[in-house]
Amino acid sequence: MAHDIVSKKIDTLAIHAGQKPEPVTGAVMTPIFQTSTYAQPHPAEWPWEYSRTHNPTRTALQDCIAALEGGEYGLCFSSGMSAIDSVIRSLSPGDKVVCGDDVYGGTYRLFTKEWSRFGLDFSFIDTTNPDLCIPEGTRLVWIETPTNPLLKTSDIESIAQKCKAVGATLVVDNTFATPVFQRPLELGADIVVHSMTKYLNGHSDVIGGVVVTSDKDWAERLAFIQNSAGAVPGPQDCFLVLRGLKTLHVRMERHQSNAKKLVEWLSTHSDVEQVRYPGFGGMISVTLKATLEQACTVVKTTKIFTLAESLGGVESLIELPAIMTHASVPSDIRAELGIADGLIRLSVGIEHIDDLQADLAQAIQQGLHG
Ligand code: PLP
Repeated sequence: MAHDIVSKKIDTLAIHAGQKPEPVTGAVMTPIFQTSTYAQPHPAEWPWEYSRTHNPTRTALQDCIAALEGGEYGLCFSSGMSAIDSVIRSLSPGDKVVCGDDVYGGTYRLFTKEWSRFGLDFSFIDTTNPDLCIPEGTRLVWIETPTNPLLKTSDIESIAQKCKAVGATLVVDNTFATPVFQRPLELGADIVVHSMTKYLNGHSDVIGGVVVTSDKDWAERLAFIQNSAGAVPGPQDCFLVLRGLKTLHVRMERHQSNAKKLVEWLSTHSDVEQVRYPGFGGMISVTLKATLEQACTVVKTTKIFTLAESLGGVESLIELPAIMTHASVPSDIRAELGIADGLIRLSVGIEHIDDLQADLAQAIQQGLHG
């Protein structure tokens, strides 16, 4: 059992799940257990032996995120990529993996450039297609919804049923939606992964990842990998994410209300070809009627939106996927997917909406007409 809070409300779980006052001093906040090892009263009987295996700050964080996702087990890793890597690492040569065709560029790179060298068989499909078919013999299906950067959504419940029919494990990267807007395990997924770097932490000062599941076998396998491969986060990073989580639900509301107002405004802007927004959350992708050079000027001209990769922090960020986050996706595939030169991705922060709108307005004006 990942936590003992009776409530199922995310607002309460975000603040309390996995955490109790520290028994020695009564410290209300989980301390940073900055230690590699633990004094044992008797040989081999103590629950804490070595911090790669267990660390109390990490345990609190793992249990809190598991509770937010409605799962039994949480396992934290040193980055979102190492969380993803650990799930794939548990497969065997010859296993067939079906993956969404619009996943994070780093995920695509890990699958095609690394794991395919070890005999895993990846195929990429449009998981937003309601008629998609999961072939017999598929071991694992990997989806991201909403996708990055095109913010397309997939029907988790229907894909979960199709996975069950062929005995495949369904993994959902829930980084963009967060458990505030979407809880994939409740919709039938087997595993949820996150880059904790993003909304879960929310303050752009930590790199981290997490895997959540209610499947005991998967949890044991992943805990084995967590300990044996050792890509664990340090206790200070766990503390920071645990602190960030306490405002997750409040931050997400503000990210969303700011994003909705910007979508409304951008949708009627004469320099905008298309606005992509899944209807919830704080991410927007905007295709400007612009060349790559003009789009570059736009992203360099904003004063409140910072030109940077990543997303999900309290501050607003802007980036150009074609030459930044998705530069590792081959250009023909980018073109096929619609990652155009004029596509700009916004991670809408929680600043005042008037300032955000004015900032974008002046940057678009400068980039396209300046
Ligand atoms: N999944 C998604 C959807 C992401 O956007 C990212 C990073 O941008 C990752 C995974 C990888 O996470 P990290 O950068 O923490 O390794």
